[in-house]
Amino acid sequence: DIDADHLDTPCKPSHDRWKCKGCGTVGNGGAPKICPKCKNDRMEEQTWLCERCLRQAKEETTKLLEILYSDLGVEPSNLRLFFSGHRGYHVHVYSTQLQVIGEEERREIASYVLGQALDPQLHELVEVNVGGVRVIEGPQLGQPGWRGRMVAGIYDVLGEEGERLGLSPAQVKTIKTQDRDEFFKRPFWSSVKGFGLSTWKTLSVKAVDRRSAKIDTVVTTDVHRLIRLPGTLNGHTGLLTMQVPRERLDEFDPFRDSLAFHGEMRVRVKDAPQFQLAERQFGPYLNEEVELPSYAAMLLLCKHRAEPVM
Ligand SMILES: [Zn+2]
Ligand SMILES: [Zn+2]
Repeated sequence: DIDADHLDTPCKPSHDRWKCKGCGTVGNGGAPKICPKCKNDRMEEQTWLCERCLRQAKEETTKLLEILYSDLGVEPSNLRLFFSGHRGYHVHVYSTQLQVIGEEERREIASYVLGQALDPQLHELVEVNVGGVRVIEGPQLGQPGWRGRMVAGIYDVLGEEGERLGLSPAQVKTIKTQDRDEFFKRPFWSSVKGFGLSTWKTLSVKAVDRRSAKIDTVVTTDVHRLIRLPGTLNGHTGLLTMQVPRERLDEFDPFRDSLAFHGEMRVRVKDAPQFQLAERQFGPYLNEEVELPSYAAMLLLCKHRAEPVM
């Protein structure tokens, strides 16, 4: 299960709100686990589904598929992919071998996919003594499993973040002068001046975070849950829960491809941000009565942002 609820997207403060059921404290963005004021853990959330959040969920799904195929030996023919009808994707794996595994085992798989507590040193990132000279050795691009993935993640991280990596200004300057593509062709672990084992470890941990698939562990490990049935409507949105052929994941647009309702409907909208469905822009709305295509009206009704007009 991959759900935008569990992703840290920058747009959340602009479209999600929470309210503590204990003391009434409110805030923007995803709800904290416990209320900062009264430490209550019961939160009321008002979420919206946005293009940015769903794009991120799709990226996490793509990463998950890659790990399932290349590390865990899942056959593509045994796997089906679904849009949840709300803020995420479900991946179903059909296998008699996997059917018998329990919560413990599922938790281990989830932990592997998330790269949780991955220690770079156990993946051969080490400092060795070669004839009195300290040399750093580590995994290489193209190695199977988390080793190669960690190096690929370092490639991403070095290209994108610079100052946010927790490096010193001198280190950032050094790294920015490197040609990334040439860099990984040579024994790079020991080739950067001022980069010791601890710097590489910090970068490796960030790299793993970048390449891990952010699945929802609670839902993924729970064997008692009913998974939403494909072809049904999701009550949070009025959108269809539907299968997405793997080869179509890239082009799949939940805001165009999962619409269920036809016709027009009049609704009184309390408030709603701007949104796009079927390549048409709607909103923002505030205390107004509007006639909308039924799929857009249903979304607002399901999200409790509007009421029907009789
Ligand atoms: Zn509170
Ligand atoms: Zn968003």
